Order: sequence, then C-alpha cells, then structure tokens
Amino acid sequence: MKIYDVSLTLQSAMTTYDGEPGPTVTPIKAIDKGDAANVSLYSFGSHTGTHIDAPVHFIPAAPGVDTIMPEVLIGPATLLDLSSISEAITAADLQGAELPPDAARVLLKTRNSRYWDDVSGEFHRDFVYLAPDACRWLVDRGVRLVGIDYLSIEQFASPDHATHLTLLGAGVVIIEGLDLRAVHAGQYMLVALPLKIKDGDGSPSRVVLIDDWE
Ligand SMILES: [Zn+2]
Repeated sequence: MKIYDVSLTLQSAMTTYDGEPGPTVTPIKAIDKGDAANVSLYSFGSHTGTHIDAPVHFIPAAPGVDTIMPEVLIGPATLLDLSSISEAITAADLQGAELPPDAARVLLKTRNSRYWDDVSGEFHRDFVYLAPDACRWLVDRGVRLVGIDYLSIEQFASPDHATHLTLLGAGVVIIEGLDLRAVHAGQYMLVALPLKIKDGDGSPSRVVLIDDWE
C-alpha cells in the first residue's frame, strides 16, 4: 500500500485564486511568552489551497460543506491523465478516456499540476478547466465527485458559471487545488475530508490517494 498526499500545504506564501488573501497564523498563546501551550488563530479563505466546493458556493440556500456525505468523500477513484489538453476538457475528451462505466469519483490530472512548481505564488489565469458539456456527461453517467489540479474547475472569468452550476446543481462534489504531480493515471482509494463548517461554502481539505489498498 502506498499513500500519496495530494494536498497543498497551507502557508502565507501560496497561490490563491486571483489575488484572494492567503492564510495567516496569529499566536494567541505562546510558550515562549510564558503560556502553557502554543495556540494560534488561523485565518484563510474557504477556497484556499486544496479544497472542496459545497453546493451553496454557487447556489443560494443550497447545502453546505458540513452536509457532504463521507460515503462520497471516501471511496475508489479513477485518475485520468489529460496532460496533453491545452485549454478545455470536453465531453469528447472524457469519452475517449479510460473511464470505467461505473466510475463514481473522477480526478483530472492536467498540465495545471506543473503550476505547483512555480513557488512565486502567481495565479495563472490560463489553467485547464472542465467544459460544461463534460460536466453534463459526468452527471449523466452518475459520477458523484470530480477533482482537478488547479484552484478552479471552471474557465477563468466564465460568464455563466455553467461548470460549477451543472456539477453543484446535481450534487456532485468538487475538489479543487489538487497537487497531482506525483501520481499517475489509474485506480486509487480516495480520502478527502473537509472541515465540518456549518453551512460552509467550501473548506480546505486534506486529500490522499491510496494505491494498492487491498
Ligand atoms: Zn470551485
């Protein structure tokens, strides 16, 4: 069994979505100041680093991240390597990929993962995204969860947010900000656990892929 941690490390110097503020850590108790323990106040956006989108992210009054079922967040997943695609992943691309007919969780490795080599923190707007027709294709096949290796699954500055609306509207869980540099295409056991924040629109999540889990 091999476990791959495909999560980004939360830190002040990290890439955030188009200039959103990064995490901060403020000590509220400190051993070196005479306190018994170190305790910190963390501040970060709900869509920072590797994170999960809840339906209420784009749909008013829809369910929050606290309601996403562990049965969807944990289970077998298919990782597709679509690194040769330069802009949009379409339904035709997925049709041609090696996706088992009963796949419930799909992870998309793209050229975006190479952006994590850039430690400058620059946000790249020309990331590869999932086209709306591909979202509909996944929903129609009964896929419950889809993940991608940049901070959004939708084209930058999309006019209608059809990618998010199609997936979230169908109750599909979205994982964004995966670091898939070290993993290859194939079948894994996925474990992705967001913080259980009441009515939260999203949450940073620790995500691991387990190879040869049986
Ligand atoms: Zn999103």
